Amino acid sequence: HHIVAADRLSFSYPDGTAALRSVSFCIHHGESVALIGANGAGKSTLLQQLNGCLTPSSGEVRIGDFPVTPRTLQEVRRTVGMVFQDPDDQLFMPTVFDDIAFGPLNRGVAPGDIEAQVAAALQAVGAGHLAGKPPYRLSCGEKKRVAIATVLAMDPAILVMDEPTAGLDPFSRREVIKLLKNFSHTRIITSHDLDMVAEVCDRVIVMHGGEIRADGTAEEIFADT
Ligand code: ADP
Ligand code: ADP
Repeated sequence: HHIVAADRLSFSYPDGTAALRSVSFCIHHGESVALIGANGAGKSTLLQQLNGCLTPSSGEVRIGDFPVTPRTLQEVRRTVGMVFQDPDDQLFMPTVFDDIAFGPLNRGVAPGDIEAQVAAALQAVGAGHLAGKPPYRLSCGEKKRVAIATVLAMDPAILVMDEPTAGLDPFSRREVIKLLKNFSHTRIITSHDLDMVAEVCDRVIVMHGGEIRADGTAEEIFADT
């Protein structure tokens, strides 16, 4: 059974730009999938269809048992956790602890359970020692790992990540790659970092001009490029 299925998904922006043209693919539970392609290929537009920020012009995306529509947005966002390219879009509280607690508290996790949940999320990204720090004091690599922890704390089945290694120094990049490899979540990752993709992703979808150009294992795709 597929956890994500796009069926003849098309989307045009209000100015008429056709950003997705009849895109179809299925993703299995636990798969780690890269979306690659030049700037303008349609990757970000596709990510925004997966969490319901954009609504298809035609066709549909299904997450688990339901189509992504304005009416299913709440279920969709419980299932799909989105890690933005810029951690500053995700971190806005006075401390790292508060940032990670924010989502679960909003969802109604009991205050008595929150400490353990925050600790587990920080542990998962090797950032337990950062709980008391203000996010603006963190290095880029630390911010990235904490931003990932804010999403893990919501316990999503699917992790969607936009350029997770962009802008990181080589050491932080290695740390993030190690994390991404070890997650058991279904992962959908856009990136221009093809070495990371080859290491982290089982499968690569190549986009061009709003269409899927190729879809195969990393070995198959990188043998041709
Ligand atoms: P990628 O993430 O692969 O760089 P995008 O999904 O951002 O690609 O863009 C796909 C196409 O849609 C491009 O032609 C881009 O210029 C266009 N596009 C993106 N956002 C908008 C927008 N808000 N309004 C109009 N066109 C847009
Ligand atoms: P819009 O429809 O204008 O994009 P939204 O309120 O849907 O505005 O979301 C604002 C931004 O926050 C979007 O870019 C969206 O990707 C992101 N976002 C909000 N909530 C979630 C969530 N639970 N999971 C993933 N992304 C989210």
